[in-house]
Parts: sequence; C-alpha cells; structure tokens
Amino acid sequence: MNAITLETKIEEVPKIGVAYAKRLKKFGIKTVQDLLFYFPARYDDFSEITTIDQARNKLGEVACVQGEIIEIETSKSIYGRMAVTKAVVQDRTAQISIIWFNQPYLEKSLKENDFICVAGKVSLGKEGLFFNSPAFERINEIGENEELTHTGRIVPVYSETRGVTSRWLRYVIKPLLYRFCEQIQESLPKEIIKKYKFLPIQEAVWQLHFPESFEHADAAKSRFLFEELFLIQLNVLKEKIKLMQKRAHACPMDAELMKNFTDSLPFQLTDSQKKCAFAILKDLEKTVPMSRLLEGDVGSGKTVVAAMAVLNVVKSGHQVAFMAPTEILAKQHFKSVSEMLKKFDVKVGMLTGKDARIFKPASPSQGGDGETFEVSKKSFNGDLENGQLDIAIGTHSLIQKGVEFKDLALVILDEQHRFGVEQRDHLIKNKKLVPHLLSMTATPIPRTLALTAYGDLDLSLIDEMPKNRKKVKTIIVEPQQRKEAYEFIRKEVADGKGVFVIYPKIDSAASKLKESIEKNGQITGSATESFVPQNYGPMSLASLTINEVKALKEEYERLSKEVFPDLRITMLHGKMKSPEKERIMLDFKKGEIDILLSTSVVEVGVDVPRATIMMIEGAERFGLSQLHQFRGRVGRSDMQSYCFLFTTDPSMLNRKRLKALVESNNGFELAEKDLEIRGPGSLYGTQQSGIPDIAMQGLSNVFLVEKTRAAAKEILEKDPELKDYPELKERLKQFQSRIHFE
Ligand code: ADP
Ligand code: MG
Repeated sequence: MNAITLETKIEEVPKIGVAYAKRLKKFGIKTVQDLLFYFPARYDDFSEITTIDQARNKLGEVACVQGEIIEIETSKSIYGRMAVTKAVVQDRTAQISIIWFNQPYLEKSLKENDFICVAGKVSLGKEGLFFNSPAFERINEIGENEELTHTGRIVPVYSETRGVTSRWLRYVIKPLLYRFCEQIQESLPKEIIKKYKFLPIQEAVWQLHFPESFEHADAAKSRFLFEELFLIQLNVLKEKIKLMQKRAHACPMDAELMKNFTDSLPFQLTDSQKKCAFAILKDLEKTVPMSRLLEGDVGSGKTVVAAMAVLNVVKSGHQVAFMAPTEILAKQHFKSVSEMLKKFDVKVGMLTGKDARIFKPASPSQGGDGETFEVSKKSFNGDLENGQLDIAIGTHSLIQKGVEFKDLALVILDEQHRFGVEQRDHLIKNKKLVPHLLSMTATPIPRTLALTAYGDLDLSLIDEMPKNRKKVKTIIVEPQQRKEAYEFIRKEVADGKGVFVIYPKIDSAASKLKESIEKNGQITGSATESFVPQNYGPMSLASLTINEVKALKEEYERLSKEVFPDLRITMLHGKMKSPEKERIMLDFKKGEIDILLSTSVVEVGVDVPRATIMMIEGAERFGLSQLHQFRGRVGRSDMQSYCFLFTTDPSMLNRKRLKALVESNNGFELAEKDLEIRGPGSLYGTQQSGIPDIAMQGLSNVFLVEKTRAAAKEILEKDPELKDYPELKERLKQFQSRIHFE
C-alpha cells in the first residue's frame, strides 16, 4: 500500500473505505487534510471525572465516572423492536446502572470485568439512578485519563450526516492527527502569528479537535476565523491592487460646469450629496481607475450625483455606460437623466431588451424640451461605436455582444448588488484604458460587509435626506384596527394619493388566509403556518410560484369586490411581462390607478411621488432592511406619507423588530439591527457575496474585520504577488476556487 500523506484520498485510508468516503464527500471532505480541517461544531464537557458515589448526587446533570462492569445483558424491548442493553458498573465507592437503547453490538464489545469510562446525564428510572445511553470507552484501569477520546475530557461533537457519527469521526480523526498533524504547513505569515499571538496551525488544529480546555478551543477558533477573514481581505485587496495598476481616462473637473449644472436644478443639493459628488469628481481626475460605491437610502438623491459625474466625463470628451437591473429603472433613469442634462447638449441613449431610444436635446438657441426617438438597435449601436452618443443607459443589454463604445470612460451601476461580479468585470475587461466604476446602492450595507463583500470599493455615503421630505409615519396595525386603516386609505385616495399594498409570498393555503381575514379580521394560527419561509434577499422573478400569483389574485378579489369596490385597484407581479408592468407603473404614476397590489417584487428605486401609503401585509415575514426599502417607495414628495405594517404574530421578538422600524428611519441602523437580531443571512447582498459560512460569523465583529483588513494590506504592500508566502498563496488559491464554485 502507498504511504499515506495529507493529500491521500480518504477512500485509501484504512478504517474509512469507499462507503464512508462517499458520505464524507457530502461535507466536501476528499483528502486526509480535508478531514483534519473538518472542525467540530461544538463540544461536550465531560472533563470532570468523579467517583460513582459523587455521580449519584448529580441527578439531571452530566457526570463522568470510571468503573468495572459487573453485569451486562442485552434484551429486546417489549415490542421486540429495540435492543436494550443494561449494565451495572462499580468503583470503590458505589454502583450505578447504565441503559443503552438500540446498540446491539455493545453485547459483543463490552464484557463483564471490563473497565470503562462513562459520561452522560444521570437520570432517574423505576429502578433508581442510571446513565441513559451515555458515551463510553474501554479503559485499562480506573484512574486512567491519558488517552481518552469519547469521555473524560472536552469531547468534540461534529455536525453529522446519516451514517457518520461524531463517535466515528473522533475514532478516525484522532489517529490521523497523531500521524499527520505535524506535516500541516503553517499558512499564516510568521509576523502575523507573532503579532496577534496566534496558536501555530498544527497546535490549533489539534486543539480544535481535542482541546485541553475551552480557552484552548477558543484560541484555536479565533485563529481560523482570523485566517478566513484575512483570506477574504487578501482576495479583494489583491483585485484592488491589480486594478490600481491599470490606467483610466483622467477627466479634469470643470468646476464652472458643475456650478451651472447645480444652479439649473429645481432644488439645492444636500451637503451629503455635495460631499459625495466632490469625492467622485476628484477620483475621475486621476489616471487610476475609480472604484467607488455610492451608498444612500432610497430617495436620498443618488441619481443627481451620478448625473454630475456623467456631465463631467462627457464634457471632457468621453462616453458613459449607466446600467440598471430592470427595464423600468432603466427607463426611469433615461427620462430623469435626459431631463437633467437637456440644457447641456448631451446625447443620451437607452438600450433595453426590446427598445433603443435616443434623446435629442433642443438646440440652445431654440430652447424647448428636446425629443425622444425610437431607433433600431443597429443604428443605436452604430451611434455608440462612432461616438455620436455620449451616454448609454440600459439593462444587461449594454453588455451584450455587438454593443461597443468608442471611448468608454465611466461605468455606473445602479443597485449593483443585483449584478454578478462577472457582469461588472465584463464592462471593464480587455480595455487598454479601464473605465472608472461607480456603483450605487440603496441597500444599507453594514460596515463589516462593506469592508468584505465590497472591500475592493471605496465608500461614499449620502447620509441625509433632501430637506423637503417629511418623515414617513410608520404604524403597526393591530388586527382589530384593519377597518380603521382601510378607512384612512379611502380618505387619502379621495385626496388623489396613491397606495401600495405589498402581499408576502405565500403558498396555496392562501385561501385559508383569506378565510381567516374574513372571519376574524385577522390571520390565525393554521393560516399563518402556511406561509412559505420568506426569502429576505432580493427575490428573483423566476422564483415566484403560480401559487403566489393565485394568492395575490385572491387578495385582489377581496380588496376590489369587498373592501374597495369603488376604487381602481391593479395587481403587479413578477410573472407579468415587462411592457405590462411598465404600463401599470406609468398608470399608477399618472394617477389612473388608486391602489397597486403587488408581491414583494416592486421594483427597487421606482419613483411615484403621488404615492403616500405603503401597506405591508404579513410584515413579520420580511427583514427590516427589506421593510425599510418598501417604505422608501413612499415619502418621495413634500406630502406626509404613511407605512402601515400589518402583523398577526404577537411574539416579543417580532414586536421588537417592527418597533425598531417605527423608531428608526435610518437604513444603516436597521441593517445593523437585522444583523444583530437575525444574523448575517438576513442581509441583502450576502447571498451573492460569496462569503463562506465560517467568515459570516466574523462579520458581526467590526474590530476583527478591520484587523484582518489591515493585516492583509500590510502584507500585500510589501509583497503584492505573495512571493515570500508560498503557503499563503496556495491557501488563497484554494479559497478563490472555493468561493468561485459556491
Ligand atoms: P435614489 O437615491 O433613491 O436613487 P433619486 O435619485 O431617485 O433617489 O431621487 C429621488 C427624488 O429626489 C428625485 O425626484 C430627485 O429629483 C429628488 N432629489 C434629489 N436630490 C434632491 C435634493 N437635494 N432636494 C430635493 N429633491 C431632491
Ligand atoms: Mg435610484
């Protein structure tokens, strides 16, 4: 047989074999090294060994004793299905019984006069005190505690799959640790180990599996948590350094032009907007490509900041690509950017799946608003390629084959977390001169996530709202107040205001929900259970089920026939075709629809200033950030707006969460709260971030994230190619392929 090494495939390891290897592969364990890096999920503390006499005083607690088996017998249970093994052990102080269920092989492996170490909960049965199915192992004599694996120590407990128990894993891993632990190469740079006083990798691996104490286990864990976050930072910073070595068009800031532009606006920029615009314009002056994330709550006015960048780049003679995640948004941007730039002689084009349009500004001498033309895609692409067009606004269509810019100097991505990294790269790849990149998002990304998932981007925050805005009044509506809320809505509609109703994702039992609403004016038990768990990320349209549409239709029937028969109500859902959705949004905007009933897919960023009420059914189904996003659909004018949260879940946690929404109007605060209450999985953008699970735990620790970032920066500044750190380089490569395939 070949000598076994860390790289040996597990099926070749004695005791493992093909069948177990197959099960282990489900955890991604393929080699001996993988197995040694399969860390326990938690530990059982069996470290205190007592006499049996002392254990007899620990009813209901965990105890660990050593003794001699004086009786052992296996029989069938009353129903004949289960093997029951009963034993009695004794030491010099006392005796105690043990019962194991369904482990018939014990009869063969344990005999009278064997010495064993037993650990588990002390229970009370009809026949007195006993250990109920305890962990155990054979020992040579009482008092032996050197080489214990399953008892008499802090015992590792792994996450198990069918057919692979923790006991088996301990049995396999321990001898492998003895043989191979010393061959594991250190992957963290020596200076980092020294600086942070980390355990060396070999000891850390050992202490994670079989810790001497909980302090040792914690020390080992924090080393690997650090390493994981450190790899993430190396990964993003390496990308950043690569990009910084490229060259971009320098677009000098034309201060007078910018002043003319802001003077032309019907409002004054907020201080935040000015600060962000300035940072962006300064970046654009450099030959180093900009990579900036412009983050600001819905309605904080990111588009106008982007328009300033557009104008400055166009007037220094280059082109801009402005990409939005949906057609509706692309069209909205096309309209508002054309409008804002119409006095500046900028040729704006729009390209979506079906349409190509070009806006021709009126000539300055004639005045007027300018005109929009439908053009063929061919002529659009021609204009783009020969530089007739200054800016192309559009959807993914902008990165399709055949769309070429003559001289692209700036790429703007709206709601960028909805684009994959590859799509983003597509626009900046293979160019001698790399365009500057401005990403915009209304998603409040907590600082830790911004530093990791988007760690290659510089951050600009718009952290104040335009002054004319009134704070949206947020109200938790109790079931018995439903009628009152409906009356309020009726009054607002009579005033010409628009109302959004968001209906959560539910399954076919929606009719139950409806029934329950009708009967009791509230959603009751069984109906609530029928909710399908809500996906808190931005939901893909394709994930909508027929049932969901059906449930929405039922709610539509109820609202339009019974509650508001006299009002104009329309449904919007993801199964509809884009032109239809667009027509509905426009009708709503124009005031031809009073109430828009929709699933949670209402497009991000759509601007309907006349909408003043956002009513959310089943509010407890959504994350705070998402609720905050919904709320941002209203309050986009100087009229007082309202957000009604309908909930029927009276639990404290739910109340606490919804109250946070009532009390805070700050997306960042709410995102941090979500992170605190529900963990990182609840955040927008985490699914696409490619961050591994272990590192996710570290995301709630700003301090740790910053520490790893600083460490990664220090190493890369000294040695960008990691030439002096071959082990680290290798680990980074593994890490990259891991996040790539996840
Ligand atoms: P978002 O940041 O959500 O993309 P928008 O750019 O769509 O926000 O802006 C929302 C609305 O606010 C637009 O109608 C815009 O014209 C308006 N707006 C932007 N900045 C200001 C400001 N400083 N004062 C008043 N209104 C503003
Ligand atoms: Mg926007």
